[in-house]
Amino acid sequence: MRSFVSTDDIRSWGGILQGQHFVSQPNWRDQLPRSIAEARDAGQSLLAIGLGRSYGDSGLNPGGAIVDMTALDRIISFDPATGLLRAEAGLSFADILDLFVRRGFFLPVTPGTRFVTLGGAIANDVHGKNHHRAGTIGRWVRRIGLLRSDGTEIELRDDDQTGLFAATIGGLGLTGLITWAEIELMRIPSALMDVETLPFANVDEFFAVAAESEDSADYTVAWVDCLAKGNALGRGLFTRGRHAPGGTKLARVGKPKLTVPFSMPSFVLNNLSIGLFNSLYFYRGRRAAGKATTPYLPYFYPLDSIGHWNRIYGRRGMYQYQSVVPPVVARDATTEMLKAISKAGEGSFLAVLKTFGEKTSPGLLSFPQAGTTLALDFPNRGQLTLDLLSRLDDIVREAGGRLYPAKDGRISAAMFRAGYPAWEAFAQHVDPVFSSAFWRRISE
Ligand SMILES: Cc1cc2nc3c(=O)[nH]c(=O)nc-3n(C[C@H](O)[C@H](O)[C@H](O)COP(=O)(O)OP(=O)(O)OC[C@H]3O[C@@H](n4cnc5c(N)ncnc54)[C@H](O)[C@@H]3O)c2cc1C
Repeated sequence: MRSFVSTDDIRSWGGILQGQHFVSQPNWRDQLPRSIAEARDAGQSLLAIGLGRSYGDSGLNPGGAIVDMTALDRIISFDPATGLLRAEAGLSFADILDLFVRRGFFLPVTPGTRFVTLGGAIANDVHGKNHHRAGTIGRWVRRIGLLRSDGTEIELRDDDQTGLFAATIGGLGLTGLITWAEIELMRIPSALMDVETLPFANVDEFFAVAAESEDSADYTVAWVDCLAKGNALGRGLFTRGRHAPGGTKLARVGKPKLTVPFSMPSFVLNNLSIGLFNSLYFYRGRRAAGKATTPYLPYFYPLDSIGHWNRIYGRRGMYQYQSVVPPVVARDATTEMLKAISKAGEGSFLAVLKTFGEKTSPGLLSFPQAGTTLALDFPNRGQLTLDLLSRLDDIVREAGGRLYPAKDGRISAAMFRAGYPAWEAFAQHVDPVFSSAFWRRISE
């Protein structure tokens, strides 16, 4: 494996999982077949990585080979009449925004960080605050270049009948290397966002505001104080936004202003500090509630302004937990989850609640489905945290919901299979050389 180097530097974004990998970082697409052949001929399993923003083990392949796609970041073509952008899979959403916002185009769907690659976003079929309007990114992908381990490169189209397109969207990198992709950008009138923040007092109020906002707002999301108890259980701040008309002020992408230079000691984050933060955040947010016009960057990507923010969780790292539960049981299941968290005293800063709409995701393993999604991160406190997460698993499974693989590093095979009944159909499209720690855990 001449183009690979051995390293133990690759760590999940949650910081809990790490492993020894053989890594190759090609600069040109025509080098990819050689990397694949070297890994295959050496009997190594292979996985692509982008910017490593997946929290758990779906982006790790310990003991095996990794192709780092981030140097493959060229634009291949762009048609301003249709908004169709064809680019190499390592191009980041940050670069797309930097180039295209000033030309009046925006990503049709974006996650809460812009430091993701096109290939990584497709492999997790990412969603954003506009799921109820736009669905997942996969709905906006028109073509994919996929390189398989036998050396064949296939152009997959969105009307593909073989099932390989549907398996590759949200396919966790297991169907082969996405070398390039074509997505449809959307037109925007300005680089500004009209945003309204509304405090809500409890879970019932959240569902009322969410239902009322679906028709009028392009983007909706809520932050929840998950340590609040009793009548205040589920209190939080709801934001709804849309691209502001007319304005031409351009927000330039800069480097993060603040950086967390090293992993914080674990005493910095304890129940007291998380509880204090949540209360302060809620009361400050409530005071400042109302309408505002803001640049798009802080609206879509508040965490991106703090470089390496994941280091505040210290060396032990954190667990992300993102579930979705169907609409009919959403209120009860969400209430039960918040009660379990509040009772356990295991707080989360970043508790995000959102309703997903009816737009069907094109991927066999796409996470979003109609219902309510709750995303949380918990500092890793060992067994205490794992016990709480198992309790949450029970609630989600009973509700007929599922968890997001991009945020997971621990669910059982049974839990995954219950949530993703198409997994067996998907497995038929997995390339025999491609694998990940996540896939081995849930398929073997
Ligand atoms: C702060 C933060 C906020 C987030 N918010 C959201 C959100 O709102 N919605 C959401 O959906 N997700 C969200 N995420 C998760 C993130 O969007 C996904 O994990 C995304 O896929 C990461 O992209 P990446 O380029 O870092 O990919 P990686 O994490 O490096 O890889 C992700 C997967 O893609 C595969 N892959 C990467 N490149 C290729 C390729 N070229 N060919 C084939 N497979 C490939 C990898 O094998 C892996 O399975 C968030 C993450 C963070 C850190």
